[in-house]
Amino acid sequence: PKHQSVALIIGVTGIVGNSLAEILPLADTPGGPWRVYGVARRPRPSWNDDNPVHYVRCDISDPEDVQSKLSVLTEVTHLFYVTWTNRSTEIENCDANGKMFKNVLDVLIPNCPNLQHICLQTGRKHYIGPFESYGKIKTNDTPYHEDLPRLNYPNFYYTLEDILFEEVQKKEGLTWSVHRPGNIFGFSPNSMMNLVGTLCVYAAICKHEGVPLRFPGSKIAWNGYSDCSDADLIAEHQIWAAVDPYAKNEAFNVSNGDVFKWKHFWKELAEQFGVECGEYEEGQKLSLQRLMKDKGPVWDEIVKKNGLTPTKLNEVGIWWFGDITLGNECPLDTMNKSKEHGFLGFRNSKNSFISWIDKVKANKIVP
Ligand code: NDP
Repeated sequence: PKHQSVALIIGVTGIVGNSLAEILPLADTPGGPWRVYGVARRPRPSWNDDNPVHYVRCDISDPEDVQSKLSVLTEVTHLFYVTWTNRSTEIENCDANGKMFKNVLDVLIPNCPNLQHICLQTGRKHYIGPFESYGKIKTNDTPYHEDLPRLNYPNFYYTLEDILFEEVQKKEGLTWSVHRPGNIFGFSPNSMMNLVGTLCVYAAICKHEGVPLRFPGSKIAWNGYSDCSDADLIAEHQIWAAVDPYAKNEAFNVSNGDVFKWKHFWKELAEQFGVECGEYEEGQKLSLQRLMKDKGPVWDEIVKKNGLTPTKLNEVGIWWFGDITLGNECPLDTMNKSKEHGFLGFRNSKNSFISWIDKVKANKIVP
């Protein structure tokens, strides 16, 4: 059958890539019917296998690999760029991430005559600054809105935007959108930053060891307001921008539209795993990285005992990310610009949290 739109998802097994891979092929998705191509380096994982997506293994940091694997996808109409690489300094991140994005655009723009739109996913660190800058630089006041000026600190999100703005000029009519989620609630054991998955693994280990679910974070995160961005909502937001003329050539925040407190969600997490709920411990300097340091063999045992999908602890328990998220105040954003441009999507974050926990269990990543 003839497809109206042809998507290329770069990072198809990531936390948002996996949602795009599930939603784009559906019969009622705007702009469809979609034919979907998806790129990642590793072999296709079992939990991504059911989606009707043409899976392409390609390392986008290698220009020759990109040339040979992606130059043949000449019918692509929409690019969804949902990937990144993490280096030791932000200067290196700018260089490495810029090269990856440029490698893809250098091949797609000249080879895809019908290329119409590019969705670039960055994030709220556009306003906060990169992890390494936390506490060191002055940021703008919250709630963050899209018109705030850039911070005076290197940021690979700025590099990616600048490449995007320059590259779209090479093709008449080619449009773009930038999507800035906060902490993402979604599903992907192959993600470099997966909070729900990480918390599930932590809870499963507490359950296995018969200890309470201690809260390894700060008082401000426990008591204060946090928000999150549901991965399916982000996918819907990107598809909206790809299709709707009012969303072209703009950057948008994307978050669920409500707030929550970790002290409430911690109870939900404990309940889902049948473990005793801990709480914020005054004066304690708990950290997931320290608590989980030697748990590799324990995890292997849990996987074996429960017949789980084989994973390594350091792939599914991303402790540094959990520590940053639970250790800091969550700076909030506003969704006004998206709403004013016609995107009224939202999620109930509690339902979102529980449904992604269910998905981690259903895919046998945790018991
Ligand atoms: P993930 O880490 O979840 O997924 C990355 C995807 O890209 C995977 O499919 C991975 O598969 C693939 N990939 C990685 N490197 C390459 C490569 N060299 N060539 C081809 N494929 C590659 O991505 P996110 O969605 O988390 O990240 C996208 C953007 O969103 C980033 O800028 C991030 O900072 C931002 N963001 C993320 C948040 C989060 O909570 N996760 C929160 C806010 C913003 P494989 O490894 O097999 O190649």
